[in-house]
Amino acid sequence: MALVLAGGLGRRMGRPKQFIELLGRPALLYTLHAFERAPEVERLYAVGDATRVKELAKAAGVSKYRGCALPGEHRSLSTRNGLGLLAGEDPDTIVLIHDGSRCLVTPEIIGRVVEAARGGPSGEAPDGVIPALPVSDTIKVADGASVLETLDRTKLYAVQTPQAFRLGLLRDLHAGSDDLLRAATDDASLVESAGGRVAVVRGEKTNIKLTSPEDLILAEAILGAHRGLLDLREGAF
Ligand code: C5P
Repeated sequence: MALVLAGGLGRRMGRPKQFIELLGRPALLYTLHAFERAPEVERLYAVGDATRVKELAKAAGVSKYRGCALPGEHRSLSTRNGLGLLAGEDPDTIVLIHDGSRCLVTPEIIGRVVEAARGGPSGEAPDGVIPALPVSDTIKVADGASVLETLDRTKLYAVQTPQAFRLGLLRDLHAGSDDLLRAATDDASLVESAGGRVAVVRGEKTNIKLTSPEDLILAEAILGAHRGLLDLREGAF
């Protein structure tokens, strides 16, 4: 099952980015549709404006949509609210947590993450799975004005979502203090802090998060290029 976080206010963008229109359709609609098309996902939950999300799910023909929770003040607090919707689900189920504003997510990346969460060919299931890409830029630590350090790029990865976990573990980790949750910018970091093993699978360069206005140009270009490949049936949404 999957939980799509769409409760951010989009401060850096100046408006909630998940509802920004791309090629005439709200970004979140592409996100929901990718999960609808992923065979590994049976049920889809969200965090955000329930009325808008429900309307979008209906418009996109998302048969897997089950419900929406209220956002929290920070991303991890939104995850916690979303997990509240899953109270009746089996703790051993794999749950995918996804940034709603990563609207270019594909069923292929979802499949890779779930396969690794199930243990992949080795059968040894990790505590968490993240899609990530090696960074190509040189990354330096700076204090705003001057460089303090240059990091070893060979060990650096840019991390994406969806991230996968066993529901029970994720629930336990989100029962922690609000301060701990506020400090986490993704869910895997909570697993890491608790000493869990997080596996990395290949992300996709096009799986960008809508963050600043330039990302919209990029996202529309990628969507346009994908269009022929996507199952955008006439009237499907
Ligand atoms: O702010 P950031 O880019 O990390 O947000 C990632 C995702 O988490 C976005 O899809 C956003 O809508 C969601 N979010 C949320 N509740 C918050 C903050 C962010 O659902 N309080």
